[in-house]
Amino acid sequence: MQCQTVLAGTECTFWGKQGCSFNSGSCQVVVENCEGCDRIVDGTIGKVCGAYPAPAKKWLSGICNFATHVKIELKTEDTKVNPLKASKKAAAGKK
Ligand code: SF4
Repeated sequence: MQCQTVLAGTECTFWGKQGCSFNSGSCQVVVENCEGCDRIVDGTIGKVCGAYPAPAKKWLSGICNFATHVKIELKTEDTKVNPLKASKKAAAGKK
């Protein structure tokens, strides 16, 4: 159903016939870590997240997995391969 309070007119799974069923009956404002995220929208209580009602919880155990402004850097180790040995190994494997 559509939210009638914080983001009036926006489809929300927490809004029902009894109103907002989320904890404390409303979504919560974004936290400092959210600054710069594209999912921030203006609600009647201030800036809120368009993807999750409790932004602070999204940062409790690391980076928010919905965040658009922070990317997880995966480090890959460069393994040095001797092309001559690799070629011999490949050739040996074909036998
Ligand atoms: S998606 Fe994550 S980082 Fe972005 S506003 Fe929502 S809670 Fe904050």
